[in-house]
Amino acid sequence: MRILVTGGAGFIGSHLIDRLMNDGHEVICLDNFYTGHKRNIAKWLDNHNFELIRHDITEPIRLEVEQIYHLACPASPVHYQYNPVKTVKTNVMGTLNMLGLAKRVKARFLLASTSEVYGDPDVHPQYEEYRGNVNPIGLRSCYDEGKRIAETLAFDYYRQNKVDIRVARIFNTYGPRMLENDGRVVSNFIVQSLQGIPLTVYGEGTQTRSFCYVSDLVEGLMRLMNGEYIGPINLGNPEEYTILELAQAVQNLVNPESKIQFEPLPSDDPRRRRPDITKAKTWLNWEPTIPLTAGLKLTIEDFRARVNSQN
Ligand code: NAD
Ligand code: UDP
Ligand code: UDP
Repeated sequence: MRILVTGGAGFIGSHLIDRLMNDGHEVICLDNFYTGHKRNIAKWLDNHNFELIRHDITEPIRLEVEQIYHLACPASPVHYQYNPVKTVKTNVMGTLNMLGLAKRVKARFLLASTSEVYGDPDVHPQYEEYRGNVNPIGLRSCYDEGKRIAETLAFDYYRQNKVDIRVARIFNTYGPRMLENDGRVVSNFIVQSLQGIPLTVYGEGTQTRSFCYVSDLVEGLMRLMNGEYIGPINLGNPEEYTILELAQAVQNLVNPESKIQFEPLPSDDPRRRRPDITKAKTWLNWEPTIPLTAGLKLTIEDFRARVNSQN
């Protein structure tokens, strides 16, 4: 099959491409390298089944493909808030262009949406029918509302134009190839403890997140794409941790001596987050298999190699 992956040079996209290439598909990677890197897909550049196109999805493009995994969008708060108007354009104009493409070539289209559509949730754990608690004018809204309109567009193209859609709501995902300066909590804590500097815990560290290892997530995305259920469907690991517990887990694995430094909590920071994955279990026969400690070990190994090579 010929498959387009937008945002394919990024963290999740490059792991997905590894799976698709190993399965023998033809893959087109579309990326503007905003937060993605050529090194993430370098090993496929000479493979005749692989094509890399540097392109910004806010501009139209014509390609012939059978499936589209639409992942292009910065995912870390640091990066998506750096140029919030661009984040909105990527989610609105970019998703519109990719849906227009899917409509023209009759490709199946999977949207990488997010648990952020639930905002700072009043319902816990979050199930798919919950409509969320999003601040429409806050610092996170370029991303949260951007993804909400991306979901709206997907469902409108489905109803109006019969585009064959799939919508995944991805919860916090981590693993090798996250950027050292990514700004998300797992990469920050690992880099800090490897460098022997204090771990920056925002607020009191009592807010919670549920962390999914990237290989589990990729498996869920592929099952969703190739199954019959259109979604929206939560994909994430239901094991929930406070941020302080995460800091302690990283300390234990890297450097029990490292200190914790408390810093102010960013505005609109969700207090807790955990997916209800009943639908994913039922429809995709999917659930995560990698526990936090095992996933952290694999991630730390990858970071150790990179952080050491910089010293
Ligand atoms: P990432 O930042 O590593 O990857 C995003 C990729 O999209 C990068 O390669 C970037 O260069 C590319 N990109 C951004 N804007 C673009 C544009 N206008 N045109 C073309 N390419 C563009 O992030 P990630 O963690 O791999 O996330 C991938 C997707 O999954 C995103 O859509 C994100 O919203 C979603 N998601 C991720 C998480 C997570 O925890 N990692 C959670 C929920 C949802
Ligand atoms: N589009 C694209 N590639 C295609 C087909 C469409 O980038 O192969 C873009 C197109 O330029 C438009 C958007 O997708 O901006 C929506 O396309 P659609 O056909 O749904 O709407 P229209 O072109 O009628 O506005
Ligand atoms: N966080 C933290 N220290 C950091 C980075 C993040 O305490 O160095 C907190 C952040 O305030 C949030 C949680 O960790 O409560 C997850 O943040 P991240 O940016 O990884 O993802 P998101 O907030 O989008 O879930």
